[in-house]
Amino acid sequence: MKVKAYHSAHPSDPQVFHDDDECPAGREIPWWNKQLGTDERPRCEYCVSIDAHRPVALSGR
Ligand SMILES: [Zn+2]
Repeated sequence: MKVKAYHSAHPSDPQVFHDDDECPAGREIPWWNKQLGTDERPRCEYCVSIDAHRPVALSGR
């Protein structure tokens, strides 16, 4: 599901931010390296893909 934007503070990790807790790349970031915010980085491709394939929530019915 969608979460607040976060990124890894580790310099050898991809310089992207995540905003989904289902992201495999985001899950590999240990809690001590997680930082809140986008850090003005591009969005992680996995997070983009997860978002694109998520069923649209039904509303207004
Ligand atoms: Zn991600």
